[in-house]
Amino acid sequence: MSPATPLERFINEDRSLACVHCGLCLGSCPTYLETGNENDSPRGRIYLMRAVQEGRLPLGDTAVRHIDLCLGCRACEAACPSGVQYGDLLEHTRDFIEKNHPRSLFQTFLRRFAIEQIFPFPRRMKLALLPALWVKKWGLQWLMPKFARDALSLIPSDASEVVLPEISRATGVKYGSVGFVSGCVMSVMFGKTNASSVELLNRAGYDVRTPPDQGCCGALYAHSGNLEQARACARHNIEVFEHKAGLDAIIINAAGCGSTLKEYGHLLHDDPAWAERGKKFSAKVKDLTEFLTEGISNLKFELSNSGDRVTYHDACHLAHPQHITKPPRILVQSVAGGHFTELPESDVCCGSAGSYNLTEPEMAERLQKRKVENILKTGARLVVTTNPGCMLQIRAGLQKAGAGHIHVMHIADYLAES
Ligand code: SF4
Ligand code: SF4
Repeated sequence: MSPATPLERFINEDRSLACVHCGLCLGSCPTYLETGNENDSPRGRIYLMRAVQEGRLPLGDTAVRHIDLCLGCRACEAACPSGVQYGDLLEHTRDFIEKNHPRSLFQTFLRRFAIEQIFPFPRRMKLALLPALWVKKWGLQWLMPKFARDALSLIPSDASEVVLPEISRATGVKYGSVGFVSGCVMSVMFGKTNASSVELLNRAGYDVRTPPDQGCCGALYAHSGNLEQARACARHNIEVFEHKAGLDAIIINAAGCGSTLKEYGHLLHDDPAWAERGKKFSAKVKDLTEFLTEGISNLKFELSNSGDRVTYHDACHLAHPQHITKPPRILVQSVAGGHFTELPESDVCCGSAGSYNLTEPEMAERLQKRKVENILKTGARLVVTTNPGCMLQIRAGLQKAGAGHIHVMHIADYLAES
């Protein structure tokens, strides 16, 4: 008998059987909210996964289509009273699909080349960005097909790379030392935000160590169905940070990466040599907002006197798998005061979802419009969030809607500028 595939192992462990088909997750699922199709809901997808595994449904275009359309936002997991580990089930299913289902040439190029060979490598991404920035600079977008124009609209004209020092010292009273994960997209497109994050940590009383040999967290691979590569990224980063003794925490300012970093123990669960090391690493990982709102800190913020209304968008991977919704609000409110206003459907995905806006542009655009409509209802002049993908997606959506005057900022920049 051939060894069990990851999907078989998953089903054998009965994790998907935890779903009792109650449907309580349906209202939280962005794709179900948009299509109303049960197959585009968490319950429907779990049913499809199980049907494929049990041989009642072939692994064909229909099943793959509904799984592809899933954002991996994990809102369903947070809503599920039965504790269904939907994110884990989805990652294993995607890994199974990529090994067993042929893709079109275009999708193969996107998934295996652009997403896996360029995005996780800052130098390659910098090179790939150059022609895109020229096209934008010279206003040549009109020469391109819609797909390419949409992808270009996501690239910020003010992309900034900042190489962080290996050690950045605490200012004022020192409380400890933390490691910093600089990220792939963050370090190339949002270098200034990384610098703001380190500045905040220094002001809070912490030395910040940013190992230059750290690599991609593995989220892009895990989400696109390449768990083996995601595990390789995890092993590399664990080793790199293990060499930095005495860290009180490992800080990340990108929600999507943070969620994966906190799950290294789980990702390496079946590897006896690494499972324990993975768990130890993950136990130290903290989102920047989580860290800045707990424990001792020198950090103080002044109320803004700009008078502009400010709102906050929950990045899926911060709100759902990490359950972090209060700390960023506390921080934003400490600067915006009474000018803070809640965003309707704040935790409904904006359509970015890692590389989803490239592989599923149509649904991504529907969710982008939905997010922009909700932002316009608030009257806010500023949207604060915690993930680079959300910033790019929401900025592009606001531009398309003629609302480019509404700014979108990472919370680290918002706080550092306060
Ligand atoms: S995933 Fe959870 S909430 Fe959704 S139908 Fe299954 S048991 Fe109910
Ligand atoms: S991960 Fe998000 S899009 Fe996918 S089924 Fe769950 S709620 Fe729906």
